[in-house]
Amino acid sequence: MQIGMSVIACSFFYLVLLAIVYFNKRKVNTFETRLYGILLGLNIIGLFLEFICCLTVRNLELIPFINMIFNRLYLVYFVTYITIFTVYVYYVSFDKQKINTTDSIDTKNKMRVTISVIYAISLFCVLFLPLYYYNDKNSVYSYGPATNFLTILCGIYMIIDLYCMLKNFQNIKTKKNIPLFALLIFFVIAFIVRNVDPSIILINSSFALVTAIMYFTIENPDIKMIEQLNIARDQAEKANHAKSDFLSSMSHEIRTPLNAIVGFSQALTEEDLPPQAKDEVKDIMMASETLLEIVNGILDISKIEANKLEIVNTEYNFNLILEELVSLTKARLGEKPLEFKYKFDPSIPPYLYGDKVRVKQIILNLLTNAVKYTKEGWISFEVNAIQKEGVCRLIISVEDSGIGIKPESIDKLFTKFERLDIEKNNTIEGTGLGLAITKKLLDLMGGQVVVQSVYGQGSKFTVAIDQRIVTNPTTVVEPTQVPIENLDLSTMKILIVDDNKINLKVASRLLSDYHCQIETLESGLECIDKIKAGNTYNLILMDDMMPKLSGVETLHQLQQIPGFSIPTIALTANAISGMKEKYLQEGFHDYLAKPIDKKELYRVLTKFLVQK
Ligand code: ADP
Repeated sequence: MQIGMSVIACSFFYLVLLAIVYFNKRKVNTFETRLYGILLGLNIIGLFLEFICCLTVRNLELIPFINMIFNRLYLVYFVTYITIFTVYVYYVSFDKQKINTTDSIDTKNKMRVTISVIYAISLFCVLFLPLYYYNDKNSVYSYGPATNFLTILCGIYMIIDLYCMLKNFQNIKTKKNIPLFALLIFFVIAFIVRNVDPSIILINSSFALVTAIMYFTIENPDIKMIEQLNIARDQAEKANHAKSDFLSSMSHEIRTPLNAIVGFSQALTEEDLPPQAKDEVKDIMMASETLLEIVNGILDISKIEANKLEIVNTEYNFNLILEELVSLTKARLGEKPLEFKYKFDPSIPPYLYGDKVRVKQIILNLLTNAVKYTKEGWISFEVNAIQKEGVCRLIISVEDSGIGIKPESIDKLFTKFERLDIEKNNTIEGTGLGLAITKKLLDLMGGQVVVQSVYGQGSKFTVAIDQRIVTNPTTVVEPTQVPIENLDLSTMKILIVDDNKINLKVASRLLSDYHCQIETLESGLECIDKIKAGNTYNLILMDDMMPKLSGVETLHQLQQIPGFSIPTIALTANAISGMKEKYLQEGFHDYLAKPIDKKELYRVLTKFLVQK
């Protein structure tokens, strides 16, 4: 008896020490750690009860009532411990992911109810079935239906535990099996010891040992490490945002000087220049177009990464896009000895609903690459359509007889800033952004891309995009085909508002071709004063990003002036897709991106100044 009580007392103290360590340690609050905490606490209570039981059973006759209460409480503890232990074994044995998914909420609820019912029945049995005590000088124990029930319950739980462990032996980390196997071994030892010396009760001490072993098997990631990881992740996200913001503001800044280069070069091409100077101006224009493409690429990728890129769907004429793509590709071929073949399925519906700018961008990327990476031979551009339930699946393929792509490089094609085969490509201009943007745009539009290529022989890029079919277009604006030279706007007064003097010069220069009367102002405030003073104009071109008062704010204030009805056009370097719609929503009548495209300027002028 003395030895038995000493073992219990020792177990009690080392579990108390373990509990101090465990509950003081900052831990991640998972279901597993919660269960473990309960088991640890229960175990300490159990050892305490067992100790008291040993004392009271010895003096059975003296305090029978207290003895009865402690023995019943001990049985309650026993039932609770083995039930929770089984829940723990089940939890660690089966795939936690599966248990945690919402799909299995039903299963989880069913399990909870089943366990609760079994537990309630077990409690009832151990509390109300008869319980007797045996006590002589050497051994003290309780027996009777209540303890028999407990033994059977214990056996059933052990079988369930073993079944769970063995069934999922492969799935769980093997170290999680250790507590259960240890429990089985300790039970056998406890049983043998009990038979040799009935005064030594080891059951609860076995639990205590198992609880101690479990301490080393529970998953308890270091909370400090997690905190540090969270801080690092937040910092990385902030840095990424800062990078995206930096890139987009840089792109905006680059657009402003580019506006001057493109604008003045465009103007110069129309001047009477010596042939060599004309060629040089053309080269400047081509270089600035390339630069603009790069800037646009950087802007796109930064918007995509900041999740700010939106797909803007409108009704559009797909045939026009195809025409533009063909003429752009022909222009890009330049002097290259390349045959450009194109074939379009005549059944493609002319009007579609989708993001025309992005659809065009995706195809143009593929066509530009085909031209860039093919020295001689041919390029083939084919578009087919499959129509189903009002949706047209465009199957666009761009094939070339160019340098091809190594099979091991195909996976890297869509990674940003990744350029392949540098030895061969080093003379070809590129940033490695085009295909990364193409892929991301396709993802946003629910499209797909497939690449087939034979290194040294050529490549084929096939893209599938779904677009809704429009049968009665209501909002498509068809371009008017009036030759640019025929426009005489000498009676028209146009006001340009921009804080940048060079931008004012560029716009004035481009407008001067139409002989209109031009007035320029450097701020929104001046513009408001002018209009308030009673000045009238036929058209206002307004920059947005201006200090003090932005273009949008200026427009809103102008609209407050009674009788104000001058068409106001946003003229801005804020040129990502979707901006046009935003400016229109703000109340602008139309939108012109910087660098100003002559054709676009012409479209706006005819729309507001000629058709009236
Ligand atoms: P960039 O052309 O600006 O380098 P892209 O993202 O458009 O960037 O293309 C990534 C890389 O994929 C290119 O650098 C090139 O090595 C390869 N590539 C793309 N298209 C083709 C093609 N049609 N033929 C051969 N290689 C290609």
